[in-house]
Amino acid sequence: MSDVNNLLKKAYQMNDLTKEEITYLLENITDADRAALFSYALKTKQAYYGDKVYLRGLIEFSNICRQDCLYCGIRASNAKVERYRLTLEEILACCDQGYKLGYRTFVLQSGEDLWYTEEILVDLISAISKSYPEVAITLSIGERRTETYQSLFAAGADRFLMRHETASKELYEKLHPTMRFEDRRACLSTLKDLGYQVGAGFMVGLPGQTPADLAEDLRYLKEFHPDMIGIGPFIPHSETPLGAEKGGTVEDTLVMVALARLLIPDSLIPATTALGTLNPQGRELALEAGANVVMPIITPTSVRKQYELYENKICGDDHPEDCRYCIERKIQAAGFDVDLGRGDSQQFVSR
Ligand code: SAM
Repeated sequence: MSDVNNLLKKAYQMNDLTKEEITYLLENITDADRAALFSYALKTKQAYYGDKVYLRGLIEFSNICRQDCLYCGIRASNAKVERYRLTLEEILACCDQGYKLGYRTFVLQSGEDLWYTEEILVDLISAISKSYPEVAITLSIGERRTETYQSLFAAGADRFLMRHETASKELYEKLHPTMRFEDRRACLSTLKDLGYQVGAGFMVGLPGQTPADLAEDLRYLKEFHPDMIGIGPFIPHSETPLGAEKGGTVEDTLVMVALARLLIPDSLIPATTALGTLNPQGRELALEAGANVVMPIITPTSVRKQYELYENKICGDDHPEDCRYCIERKIQAAGFDVDLGRGDSQQFVSR
């Protein structure tokens, strides 16, 4: 039996690997090892969550951003983006449509747009939780003050997604000229302490990213123990400084998804839109490699193409109901069951 095989077995049985072991595994993994890894990850997912795949309705409510992340299509310096901001009424109309389509989690995502003040966000969250008391509200709005996170939680927000992006401080600082590595991590810890179900995560295939950096990403996740883990390939956008870079692959991303499932077995892991963009089967492959969440877009079709983090993002012309049923068919065809419930993480349930 190869060394990699032994490491995979250890990861499956112990849900743990050292940074050195993960690095070795990433540097030496073969196609046959990959198949074994995906099968261990699938078994682990089934042990914790069965065959359920949770759906979340994703509302991309503003593409205005004060940050300037080198990889991102909606970075502040990209003057070619047509910017938009949905009104409260428009966001509530998305929720109404999402609710009628059966979603019981709404993910409100945006650039870091301070037009949405603490007061405005509190009004929005209060209105959503009043209209749909059984719905889980997930925010993905970037860095804010602790007091703001606290008010939003008190208003009814349940979850918060904020990828750590990369656990390498050096790489983080190169990619985020307007942000600090320590601030992102501090926000994640604060959110967890405040009681949110927290999602961290990273991109795969960033320029200069090494197997040791990716191993550090998994070690950070293992120690932080988030409820949710978003892992997607980096996809270059031509209107950014990284436009000519190579980008991540589906294969490498699936390996990281599967390892995340083995190391943090009780987490919720989305099959990301970025994977579906690189390969029409990308999200199904992720479900077979340990992912158990899909986030269909319910952003109004009139603005969806403007939320262009990377080019050729799928579902740009679709209507929310198209996405809802298209993804349901794909999930069922892959042999899994759609679950439209709140879908809290096992860690949260046992807390
Ligand atoms: N502003 C919020 C934040 O910072 O968490 C949420 C929105 S941000 C645009 C959502 C995620 O998109 C980021 O965490 C990043 O990982 C991902 N993203 C941005 N540009 C990308 C690209 N070119 N390829 C793949 N993912 C990208």
